[in-house]
Amino acid sequence: QDGAASSAASNAARTKTHPCFTCGACSSAARLHLPIAPRCNLSCNYCLRKYDCPNESRPGVTTAVLTPEQALERFLQVKRDMPNLTVVGIAGPGDSLANPEATFRTLELIRREDPEITFCMSTNGLALPEFVEDMRRVGVSHATVTINAVDPAIGAQIYRYAEYWGGRYTGETAAALLLANQMAGLRALTRAGIVCKVNTVMLKGINDAHIPRVVETVRDLGAELTNIMQLIPVKGSVFENLPLVSNKELMNLRKSCEPTLRQMYHCKQCRADAVGLLGDDRSIDYRPPAAT
Ligand code: SF4
Ligand code: SF4
Repeated sequence: QDGAASSAASNAARTKTHPCFTCGACSSAARLHLPIAPRCNLSCNYCLRKYDCPNESRPGVTTAVLTPEQALERFLQVKRDMPNLTVVGIAGPGDSLANPEATFRTLELIRREDPEITFCMSTNGLALPEFVEDMRRVGVSHATVTINAVDPAIGAQIYRYAEYWGGRYTGETAAALLLANQMAGLRALTRAGIVCKVNTVMLKGINDAHIPRVVETVRDLGAELTNIMQLIPVKGSVFENLPLVSNKELMNLRKSCEPTLRQMYHCKQCRADAVGLLGDDRSIDYRPPAAT
């Protein structure tokens, strides 16, 4: 119990230098996303798999997937170039926990080289209950879980299917399974002292009126903040033509949820291979030249 309390305190202290969890750090602290997780176990209606996971990353450009060893190389290179690097994150291009071998191997390799750097992961939460202990073991201090609905009838409009332990589930069954694992996983993370943010994509006419309930629910499970995000329409996805909410509607919803839980206003919806300060992505400097 004492160990859990002391790791919770040191994780919380790291929040000050995490540019996504602390807006004041975003002009000075850099983060590195390592694109080592290509597979996904979920099918969101706003996604087309050949792009980065839109739950955390801007779609539109296919990302070169790195092996854990290549990811270690990139980390060492970026660390040499950017003394202000504070966070290493795994954010796709699929789901970090649908690729657990690559995710945990990458973090273990980096931890051997750097005992201090902050580890952050994002996930859709479907596989979360199985992996909270591994996240704690490798020293993940911050996590983002994307939760778009806390009602399976609404979730069923957002997800095409969920793949879990060899089965493929659809409709409300898939949404209820996802929700149960997100709830159990988020509670286990916060109990383990891991600082959690919840991302929610605002979908006009689908979950927009429901989001205050999402925010209340995740607050009660111990999340520190929510990041309500604009939908990025992806050509060819089910939601390609879904009308967007206006920036005013988005800001009004965030403001109305602020008394319930702290809100993120500065998310840049970064790529799965983003490098550097938020809003000043240097990933182009680290990508191999495109094949011709
Ligand atoms: Fe796409 Fe991310 Fe949803 Fe997976 S979790 S289907 S990669 S948006
Ligand atoms: Fe931070 Fe948002 Fe970028 Fe994730 S997508 S690294 S939360 S700014």
